[in-house]
Amino acid sequence: MPAPFSIPVKFDLLRVGSCQHAECAALRGGGLRAIDFPALVGLIEHPQRGLMLYDTGYSQHFFSATRRFPECLYRVVTPVRLPPEQELLAQLEERGIAARDIETIFISHFHADHVAGLRDFPNARFIATAAERHKVEKKGRIGRLRRAYLRELLPQDLDARLTLADHTSTVPLPAAWQPFSTAHDLLGDASMLGIDLPGHAASQLGVAFRSEHEGDPLFLIGDAAWKIEGLAQNRTPSRLAYSLFDNGKAYDATFARLRALHLGAAPPRIIPSHCASTWRERGGTRHVRRLETKPAPGA
Ligand SMILES: [Zn+2]
Repeated sequence: MPAPFSIPVKFDLLRVGSCQHAECAALRGGGLRAIDFPALVGLIEHPQRGLMLYDTGYSQHFFSATRRFPECLYRVVTPVRLPPEQELLAQLEERGIAARDIETIFISHFHADHVAGLRDFPNARFIATAAERHKVEKKGRIGRLRRAYLRELLPQDLDARLTLADHTSTVPLPAAWQPFSTAHDLLGDASMLGIDLPGHAASQLGVAFRSEHEGDPLFLIGDAAWKIEGLAQNRTPSRLAYSLFDNGKAYDATFARLRALHLGAAPPRIIPSHCASTWRERGGTRHVRRLETKPAPGA
């Protein structure tokens, strides 16, 4: 068994739509001005296991799923922008990647802004936590909507294609990852490690790995913190935001563990799914792409 992170992958961060919220919703003590919440998606290329995504962001399916009452209320509360050039399929196509080329999708949790594109990827197998998968089936239509779940976004054959992260084996994490000590070995080669980050949702699948282009491991954390500044400054979201969380105490415990990791001696690069400053810092890289330059005719 290889040591954790000994198989590096290629990684790019994509922005797939966005919404806006008051700053104080994301950072306690913040102002009322509206700030950008990009929906960030990880595009990963593993040397043996091919192309993978961490979440999908928004998609056209989101708009059709929220056309009728009561689901349309979602869009009233959270106006969403998805310019054509930010659509995930368009960004992949631009790199020469077809939807059928995506082999694996790690699902952080089942909130609509993370899973709206699942139905676009016919060959992908999915990896998610059991607690989150079961949560989507509970609650009535209104209850699901209140928690940002839209069942219409899920592929009919979701369960046939789903691996539960909980059922994969666990591996010890390097000492620098304290207070996190073990992780799920999601692909069985210790390259992509799953860490449960409960609170915002019933459970959340954080995914840690090493990129070919960076020394420190990366850690995609979904919505366990909304902004990297929040972790650095110990500023959790507003009390109002907590009313939407699955479990506020669990959220605080997860947040505190992530903050301890972030302030540690050799922290990974933590990437929250909606952090505008993380996007500004690392968006736009082109490490993953399939387009081979064809020789010019007659060359
Ligand atoms: Zn969420």
